[in-house]
Amino acid sequence: MKKILIVGAGLGGLTTALRLAKRGYQVELVEKNAQAGGRLNQIKKDGFTFDIGPSFFSMPYEFDEFARDCAIRLPFEFVELDPLYSVSFRNNPKTYTLYKDIDKLAEQFSDVEPDFKRKMQRYLDACEALYNDTVDVAIKTNFNSLPHYFLSLLKVNPIHLPTLFRSFWAQIERYFDSKEAREIVSLIAFFLGRTPFDTSAVYTLLSYIEFRNNGYHNVKGGMYQIVTGLLKELDKAGVKLHYQVEIDDFEEKDGKLMAMLDTKGGKWTADAFVVNSDAAFFRGRVLKKKTFSEARLQKMEWTMGYLTFYIGLNAKLEDLNHHNYFLGSNYRDYAQQVLTQVDMAEKPYYYVNVLSRSNPDCAPEGCESLFFVCPVPNLLHKKDWSDKEQIVDAILHDFSERIGRDISPLIVSRTVFSPVEWEKNFNLYQGSGLGLSHKMLQIGGFRPSNKDEDYQNVFYVGASTVPGAGLPMAVISSKLVTERIVEAF
Ligand SMILES: Cc1cc2nc3c(=O)[nH]c(=O)nc-3n(C[C@H](O)[C@H](O)[C@H](O)COP(=O)(O)OP(=O)(O)OC[C@H]3O[C@@H](n4cnc5c(N)ncnc54)[C@H](O)[C@@H]3O)c2cc1C
Repeated sequence: MKKILIVGAGLGGLTTALRLAKRGYQVELVEKNAQAGGRLNQIKKDGFTFDIGPSFFSMPYEFDEFARDCAIRLPFEFVELDPLYSVSFRNNPKTYTLYKDIDKLAEQFSDVEPDFKRKMQRYLDACEALYNDTVDVAIKTNFNSLPHYFLSLLKVNPIHLPTLFRSFWAQIERYFDSKEAREIVSLIAFFLGRTPFDTSAVYTLLSYIEFRNNGYHNVKGGMYQIVTGLLKELDKAGVKLHYQVEIDDFEEKDGKLMAMLDTKGGKWTADAFVVNSDAAFFRGRVLKKKTFSEARLQKMEWTMGYLTFYIGLNAKLEDLNHHNYFLGSNYRDYAQQVLTQVDMAEKPYYYVNVLSRSNPDCAPEGCESLFFVCPVPNLLHKKDWSDKEQIVDAILHDFSERIGRDISPLIVSRTVFSPVEWEKNFNLYQGSGLGLSHKMLQIGGFRPSNKDEDYQNVFYVGASTVPGAGLPMAVISSKLVTERIVEAF
């Protein structure tokens, strides 16, 4: 029986482990932390439960495909979010509630964007065509070389060619006139860790996924139930997990990797290795490849960092949705500086997830479990985060003003992660929240491959290899790397 060692128990590592175990491989996993899940993780503190990263996901059918592939029943239950989320702007008393239902959605914009329904339908028709024409050839395919990638792209309907040369924002401007519609519909570009102004219009396919395809989903009991459920399935399949094992070196012989070495002197041998640690960072720092030297890594384009904080409140906030976006009034200026500095004058934009809204068990009776995400520069642009508590205080103050209730005396639990903690906890290069960005020269055949260039028995899975960031992409990534391994061994 061939033995596979997986480095990292993020969603990519866990789903790859089960796919391989179900195919008859002997699989072991090593994880640097004491708990599995990577960015899809959980904190339990002061009687509250907080999801620390992902708070929803799209494309649930990728999880269904995974369950079918492993011949299991999905070990967690997802719940569609309706409404999708709400958005409010500073100095504007209105809260926009975003629905998948086009008539309800159009009603929200009736005072600012005449004919919204027709415009949105036209926009979504274009996004849907883009999704249908690219998902199989560009997202769900392994590329063996750049020519192979280009040949694959030739299958895409040339009607989409102009989107390659346009920004997300430029595409939005072609369909909508109001500031409100443009800003709200383009918000999704921030989910890719960049801004609508530097993200390609190709990613407007995400608007189709968001508003028309399958919407957004939460998991019953909190997002960490995905990990808890997967761990049970891995246990049944005989996969061994070893926690608090961090790989920092390796042994090789004749173009083959023989063993991974951990920081405590442990040696981990296998026939093949799958790396779920960041695919670019690991190649540079651990495998010491010149093509991924520190200087090269710095030149790559990385997604922004996140300042996240987890607040336990000794009261209920009835007026909030599961997902709530609090934006300022300077969208374009904000987007231009968010990657490099924190704007304390205008106050940062932020997102608030009320986990206890749909999962009452995550907070004590009468309490609320809140999770704030504020996009901020990664450590390449802001190294010193000694001001993190001050920034959090400013956001909490702003939040209190905007919901019309001072929450500071109600706070009974507070935990803050700046990009420093994100880097340290999960080996995220420079605290970049989503790994390598999705610019044209860093996706598909240009992204660090899921097959190592030098070692025939080393593979990669997760956000910085193909296809990219986000939970459904991690599941697709596990499918692609499994295909590679089955083909090679
Ligand atoms: C704040 C935040 C919010 C997000 N929100 C969403 C969302 O709402 N929806 C969504 O779909 N996506 C979201 N994402 C993105 C999503 O979390 C990631 O794309 C996904 O979880 C990445 O999974 P992964 O398998 O690539 O790797 P990771 O989760 O990074 O897992 C890698 C694992 O490898 C371990 N590791 C690293 N190096 C080593 C080593 N040398 N030795 C041993 N172990 C090692 C790490 O500890 C980690 O457990 C969010 C991300 C962040 C940061």
